[in-house]
Parts: sequence; C-alpha cells; structure tokens
Amino acid sequence: MDAFYLIKVGEILLKLGNRKEFEDRLRSQLHSRLERAGIGHKIDMTPGRYFLTVPAERSAEAERILSRMPGINGYARAIKTEKRLAAVLEAAVEVARARVAQGKTRFKAESRRSDKSFELGSFELSAKIGEVVLAACPGTKVDLHSPEFTINAEIRERAYVFGDPEPGLRGLPVGSGGKGLLLLSGGIDSPVAGYMMARRGMALEACYFHAYPYTSQEAQDKVISLARLLSSYTGHIVLWTVPFTEAQLKIKKDSRMDLTTLMMRSGMMRVAQLLSERIGANCIVTGESLGQVASQTAENMRLTASFTDFPVLRPLVGMDKEDTVAIAKRIGSFDISILPYEDCCVLFSPKHPMLKAKLGRERAAYEALGLEPLLLEALDKAERLELS
Ligand code: ATP
Ligand code: MG
Repeated sequence: MDAFYLIKVGEILLKLGNRKEFEDRLRSQLHSRLERAGIGHKIDMTPGRYFLTVPAERSAEAERILSRMPGINGYARAIKTEKRLAAVLEAAVEVARARVAQGKTRFKAESRRSDKSFELGSFELSAKIGEVVLAACPGTKVDLHSPEFTINAEIRERAYVFGDPEPGLRGLPVGSGGKGLLLLSGGIDSPVAGYMMARRGMALEACYFHAYPYTSQEAQDKVISLARLLSSYTGHIVLWTVPFTEAQLKIKKDSRMDLTTLMMRSGMMRVAQLLSERIGANCIVTGESLGQVASQTAENMRLTASFTDFPVLRPLVGMDKEDTVAIAKRIGSFDISILPYEDCCVLFSPKHPMLKAKLGRERAAYEALGLEPLLLEALDKAERLELS
C-alpha cells in the first residue's frame, strides 16, 4: 500500500518570475533526500500543489524528511479517491475516526472544488461530510469556531481527503539561497546559525578549527554530530576540519595576551576566506551575537570581518541567548552542544581581552605575527567529511 501526501508551500508561491526555479529546487531536494534514505517515491507537482507518494511502511521516515525540509509549510497524509460522493464521504469518516481515536471530538469540514462538474457544491459537500461523520462517530460535534480537527476535501482531477496538515519548517528550499561556509564550533550558537540560514534556502559547508590535543577527539566527534544533525535540515553537508594547533601556539607565544582571542578569530576568518574561495561559497556564517562575549563587540566584529571580502552573516546577532537555546532545543542540537568538551578558544583565552579593537592598530598586530604560512599549511591539511 502507498502513503500519499499533500504538500503545502508558502513563500515559494510569492515568487513571480522565478517560481519554477524554486519549485525545481524543492523537487530535487525532496527527491535526493528520499533517495539517500532508500525510500522509493513519486513526486507530482501541479502549480500550487505538490504531492508525494511513498510506500506506506516507510511513511514515518518520509514524514521526518518532510518535517525537516526548508520550503515546506505543511504536509498532510491524504486519502486519494474517485470523484464520487460516496467515496469522498467514506474517506471523510476514515479521517474522522483516526482523530476520534486520539480523543478529539469537535470538528469542522472544509471543501474546495476546482472541478465544478462534481455533484455537490463545496458548501453542500462540507455540510454532507458533517452529517455523515456525526452519524458514524458518536460523541463528535461540529464546531466551526474552535474545532479540534478539520476534515478537508478537495475535488480536483481526483478527490483528496485529509486532516489537519502537520507543520513544516517554512522558509525556502536549500540551494535557492546560494552556498555559505558555516564556522561550526561545538557550542550552542553556531549550529543554530547554520539552521537559520538553511531555512532561508542556503546550502552549507561547515568548517571546524580543531586544536588537538588541546581540544580532544571528543570535541571533534561532537562537531561531527552537530554537522550530521544539520544535514537532516540541509539534506547534505560537507564538514572541513582544519588543524589549528600550530597557529594557536604561535599566537599564544607571540601575541600580546589581551589580543590572543582576536588574533585567533582573525586567523580563522582568513582561512574561511580561502576555503570559501575554494569551495565556491558566497558568504561566511557565524554564531556571533552582539555583546555575548568579549570578541563579539561591533568593533571586534569589524576587525575579524576585515580579513574577508565575503559578507559575514550572523543570523543570531540580535538574538537573546534564551531564544537561541529554545531554537537549539527544538531542532535537536542543544543536547549535543551541552556535552562537556574543551573549547579551544576558551583554553587559549585571556583573562582581560581587548573589547574594542582599533582596526588599523590590531590589523598591524596581526600582520606582525606572520601567521600566513601556518594558515596555508593548516588549510592544506584540512580533512573533508561528507555527511547526510
Ligand atoms: P558557539 O556557541 O557557536 O561556539 P560562542 O557564543 O561560544 O558560539 P565564540 O566561541 O566566541 O562564541 O565563537 C563565535 C563564533 O565563531 C562561533 O559561533 C563560530 O561561528 C565561530 N567559532 C568559534 N570557535 C570555532 C571553532 N573552533 N571552529 C569553527 N568556528 C568557530
Ligand atoms: Mg564557542
């Protein structure tokens, strides 16, 4: 038996000239995710309506994919029947019974009819569904204002009957917003930043600066877990692990103590610039939030961003930590992020860091360190891991 889904999109419908491009993205994203999961499927798209058919025994996995796909506003498992009144009513009762089994009683029926040759108008069809469900499911009540469930019937080339759609992520299909390089640490913020950009349609590659043995293998494993989680939203992700120990030791040895964090961030940004060029990314994404730590003042962001000509996107810049934590919990990254680990930046961080970098002065301090050969070598040794 097949499971059949109606997929609702939102923002894509507002695209006028290039809507087809967004629809094609959505289709290819859905296709590749289902294919990677080994789920046989059929996708049908008519303007404004999208349908997915998968084997019923794979429906739970397919729903997980639908629920994590940017660009989808909602989806509903639907019964597809002939365009005969009796068949539609029978399907409506089936939908109602499933909801009643969950303890829900107050309902309303909504019908749409694009095929005007169907024997009842949409208003009459809704009334008829109400009547039949009331008779078939004792204890149910019609409630047009605050129903606990809705029975939808759509009469088109076929008839479709379904309950309330499950919410999707909304946003735009991955890939429609170009590609970004996400600076991914093991903390709470950067995975959320990556998720937020993915939801706006950005494909991601991630870059992690690893300072082994100052940061442990566990710290790296944690970042891999976070990247894997992100891939459930992006469909696919490439994680670059850049060995950063040599650069950090040099900074620790030669830099003024209060500048070490800034010098490290600047070096990371320089590597991010080179890596972005190499992979064809068009922006750099970080989890920075204004004022959260010393390195995240506007002055210091100006300094670090001066080491790249790509736009540095910081989706969390104006967010409160609690709001970020709430998103992290919702998307499933929080429990991974709070696993104990050593953040390289904490290990090397000064007690009294510079809060307000002066661009010219601090850039000169950076240049004086002569980090470039170490950074090039680190980039050369970067490990590439594909996750999906
Ligand atoms: P996070 O929770 O994402 O670690 P944070 O609040 O701890 O952020 P910082 O540690 O100052 O802030 O890092 C700021 C940003 O710099 C991070 O959000 C991330 O994008 C990037 N970053 C920091 N450390 C690393 C690292 N080791 N590898 C890759 N990116 C990093
Ligand atoms: Mg951190």
